Amino acid sequence: MTGGLAVASGQKPKVVRGSRRREEADARRGAPPPPHVGGYGASEVTSMTDLACPDVGDGAGLRHLRKFAADVAQCMKCGFCSYFCPVYREERDEKSLARGKNQLIRFLLKGEQELTGGFYEAIDNCLLCKTCVQYCPAKTRIDHAIIAARGDYAAERGLPWSKSLVFRHVLSKRWLFGWALRVGSWFQFLLPRGEGKFRHLPQFLTALGAGRAVPEIAPKFLQDSLPERSPAVGERRYRVGYFSGCATEYMFPETGRRIVDILTALGCEVVFSRDQACCGAPVFFSGDLETSRKLARQNLEAFEGCDYIVTGCATCGSGLSDYPVYLSESPEEKARFEAFAAKVRDFNAFVIDVLTAEPERFQLEPRFRGKTVTWHDPCHLTRHQGVASQPRKILNALEGLRFIEMPDADRCCGLGGSYSITHHDTSKKIADHKVAGFEASGADALVTACPGCVIQLRDALSRHGNGAEVVHIGELFQVRSSNFKAQGDASAPVGHLAG
Ligand code: SF4
Ligand code: SF4
Repeated sequence: MTGGLAVASGQKPKVVRGSRRREEADARRGAPPPPHVGGYGASEVTSMTDLACPDVGDGAGLRHLRKFAADVAQCMKCGFCSYFCPVYREERDEKSLARGKNQLIRFLLKGEQELTGGFYEAIDNCLLCKTCVQYCPAKTRIDHAIIAARGDYAAERGLPWSKSLVFRHVLSKRWLFGWALRVGSWFQFLLPRGEGKFRHLPQFLTALGAGRAVPEIAPKFLQDSLPERSPAVGERRYRVGYFSGCATEYMFPETGRRIVDILTALGCEVVFSRDQACCGAPVFFSGDLETSRKLARQNLEAFEGCDYIVTGCATCGSGLSDYPVYLSESPEEKARFEAFAAKVRDFNAFVIDVLTAEPERFQLEPRFRGKTVTWHDPCHLTRHQGVASQPRKILNALEGLRFIEMPDADRCCGLGGSYSITHHDTSKKIADHKVAGFEASGADALVTACPGCVIQLRDALSRHGNGAEVVHIGELFQVRSSNFKAQGDASAPVGHLAG
């Protein structure tokens, strides 16, 4: 369906009309579609201010959504988001656009829409990439409204049993999750090499689907090779809790070890608490706010007493920072979540902004010497956490490496957690644009800072027969000891991988 909005049972669809022929020509050229300015009920609109909707109803019975009614009211239906929404750019369906979703949510708040399967389907067709939020002239927080609406749907209609089982009983217990994955990994040999069929696992793991290039479960998990405390090299500056995230823990443990090495070399005592749980983002993105609240409380306890909580996973960083937005049940709890979120830092931002590391101490991993790399901005890093310049500073500082920008570096890769499974075709089309951008850049390797994006981009490149490496920035460099110049020991890195 193109260009229309289906609403609740019995509701008359509001149709947005545009120049289909022109849009199709644009689509063939790869150009973004034009915004459907005034598209909704355009005949009723006389000015942009008429499009604002202060009355969105009281949301009776919608425990989560009613908190965000003001966000829903912001949308003035200008359609500017249609230029930028990666899903809309592929599907040209009003329901895939922030405006369309927002309108459905308004109907829901006003009691004119029910929590039907069709409604969930519409609000589920979103990557939560926040591209629309970035460009929306009214700063409409559709991400807030969508997550809250999913929360109300899950509370009333429930989630599929498999998701509920994993969310409620597995994610809070790392040993159990690790054990389940380990058992699964014993049967990996049954799958064609490089392909996986795991489903209903959190965030990046839900990206594993038949026919996709998927990294194998690591033979040794991070918790099996990293101590609970790693002392600072030299004088301790900060006590840092390292939040690994599930992907790093079970699939990319070397990334985790390298990040911890960098932090300790820069004067941090690193606490790698065994009590940490999943960040909860995949859980509350799916609407299970109750379970994610429990995970959040567990993480608060696990990192008690740390000056900062640092993660190398962009999604985890944004998930941990969002606790006060979605999960607090009282003003006191909100204050606790805010205090926790204030300590959360992305690895790149922490190294550059807090540790203010001298770039000359960064030492390029030898296998990248003479290579040219480019950078993909994960949505959860750039739009959710405002981190974009810091990784570029690191890449520019690495002697022996050439860093160039790729076109549309901040364009979503199409992963969106379980989106890449539930909406696989659209996800693949979105990822294809990243491949085109990467190939246009002429770089040898693609660097990013989210293990989920690493998985999605590796899969996309492999589908296109491109064998270029996709690597987490933490694996690109090490840190020399602070007195390396005096000792003339420029090559000696510090940490768990040094020996
Ligand atoms: S979400 Fe923002 S950009 Fe999109 S129609 Fe509403 S006001 Fe315009
Ligand atoms: S968050 Fe991303 S996918 Fe969702 S409506 Fe906005 S731009 Fe589209």
